[in-house]
Amino acid sequence: MELQMMKRGYLQDPPVEGPPHGYAEGHIWQLATDQIVIKRWDEATAETNNITSNELFASPPYYYPPVSLELLGCPTCGATDNQIVTGRWDDPLTVHCPCGASQATPSDRPMCPENDWGRNLLKRLILTTADPSYEARRLLHEASEHRASERRLAEGPYSRRPRPEDMEIVSAVDRDTHDLGRALTDILQPKLPDPHAGWPLNLLLVQVARALLIDQVRNSADGRRLEAEVRGLLDDLRCQADRYPR
Ligand SMILES: [Zn+2]
Repeated sequence: MELQMMKRGYLQDPPVEGPPHGYAEGHIWQLATDQIVIKRWDEATAETNNITSNELFASPPYYYPPVSLELLGCPTCGATDNQIVTGRWDDPLTVHCPCGASQATPSDRPMCPENDWGRNLLKRLILTTADPSYEARRLLHEASEHRASERRLAEGPYSRRPRPEDMEIVSAVDRDTHDLGRALTDILQPKLPDPHAGWPLNLLLVQVARALLIDQVRNSADGRRLEAEVRGLLDDLRCQADRYPR
């Protein structure tokens, strides 16, 4: 069966940790995955946004989120479940489908780290297989960065009310909810396996919701840290909205 090259246009940040301990260098991983969630960058939408921002008389301006979440699927049969991933740490990604088709990412290294999505995704899957709560640590990093950038914006000269789409989500979350993962899932209604488009907060929270619905993640110390950070981020956005009442 011939190896198909995967399309470009996916994004994955580099891992937040090095290779798991206890495995020989050059260990070849064979990972049975459930579903692989990945960010997709839509060039056509980005181009439309670009035209909108250059259109002087566009009023009101319409922008659409250029990034969505989707499940990595088999190019031959479209299946998104039960894919087998193989490779060594820092290899390009190779995915084998139960239907017999295989696909791989190119071996070149793009300039922008998050465009090297095949290697980064393989590392993420290796780390999550070695320790499921890695998913909480990875998302904690993303949530902290998001929170820090919101804070910089709030304290900077262009401070303003948060994005209306973000506030819609924030106001829908009950502050006293005991089950943040379930609450977020109900509010966001993740559209996966269809593409789920959204602004960064929405996409972050869809991933957090999926992670917190896994018992092993939710009940870990890292899972609790992730939950606390996300609650803090939502509180920050509530405070910022209160500074700029409509
Ligand atoms: Zn297939």
